[in-house]
Amino acid sequence: MKLPNWFGAESSGENCVATVEKEKLMKIIVLVKEVPDTYGDRKLNLETGLADRDASDRVLDEVGERALEAALQFKDKTPGTEVTVICAGPESVPKSLRKALAMGADAAVHVCDGALAGADLGLTAELLAAAAKKAGFDLILTGNLSTDGAGGVIPAMVAEWLNAPHATFLSAWTLTTDRVVGSRATDGGVVALEAPLPAVVSITEAFPDPRMPSFKGLMAAKKKPLQTWTLSDLDVNAEPVVPRSIMTAIAEKPSRAAGIRVVDDGKAGTQLAQFLLENRLV
Ligand SMILES: Cc1cc2nc3c(=O)[nH]c(=O)nc-3n(C[C@H](O)[C@H](O)[C@H](O)COP(=O)(O)OP(=O)(O)OC[C@H]3O[C@@H](n4cnc5c(N)ncnc54)[C@H](O)[C@@H]3O)c2cc1C
Repeated sequence: MKLPNWFGAESSGENCVATVEKEKLMKIIVLVKEVPDTYGDRKLNLETGLADRDASDRVLDEVGERALEAALQFKDKTPGTEVTVICAGPESVPKSLRKALAMGADAAVHVCDGALAGADLGLTAELLAAAAKKAGFDLILTGNLSTDGAGGVIPAMVAEWLNAPHATFLSAWTLTTDRVVGSRATDGGVVALEAPLPAVVSITEAFPDPRMPSFKGLMAAKKKPLQTWTLSDLDVNAEPVVPRSIMTAIAEKPSRAAGIRVVDDGKAGTQLAQFLLENRLV
């Protein structure tokens, strides 16, 4: 009798004791952004309107690390899962991507092209969608909001480019190889969401803390694949490269005004109540 082997091909059956189906390969892409360290200075270049990336150290955005942690937790208990991290950004990015590889990602892609400097949300989403399509995916996992740009729309825009369902701002989830079920906390309650894969999911800071890379992970990261894709590698029509939005004004954030000091001379309660009413805080 002939029995199928692991890869579905027929074997003589001499060494086979059971019929084993090929494991489903689950491909998870995690979009991670490199940002200026939130503990350092964050500055805006008032001539270009871009974030001054040299104002402090460049690190992986923490919410992106949490998205990677969620993917790695799934990989830990689901054999056959492959996690690839993708980041679009300047030349400094590979160092941050090595950290993601040290945490446990299998492969990394850096989307970088001199012609893309200053890419806005629309163009970045198109690039990330094209990169995810080229890499192949069952699930794209992202943070909900970056700490520098804080646009909060990249995940939905990427889903739109890929014509995939999106479940965004999830604060809890259950992932299987064919569905994602999750919940989004809102001011008024909790919204339950469900989507078939392939899908795009963004998660909030309610997700578990990211793991620290181990020494073994740091050593292994040096040998893991890290590719750089330029515009010519992606199916994006960006010639000439133009941002999809126009910056109309740039201004430095006004410094904080001194607060009002209330000294209790018997009227402090009335003053406080008046302040709360005037500022519509009650
Ligand atoms: C060559 C190049 C140079 C760039 N230079 C700059 C620059 O100087 N300053 C600057 O601020 N931005 C730069 N970008 C990045 C790009 O402009 C921003 O990433 C984009 O506008 C996203 O805005 P956001 O952070 O508000 O997104 P949000 O919608 O707030 O991000 C939500 C989530 O989307 C994902 N995401 C967002 N951006 C990226 C990204 N770039 N790569 C991977 N995942 C991402 C993350 O998971 C993030 O948590 C550059 C991009 C390229 C390709």
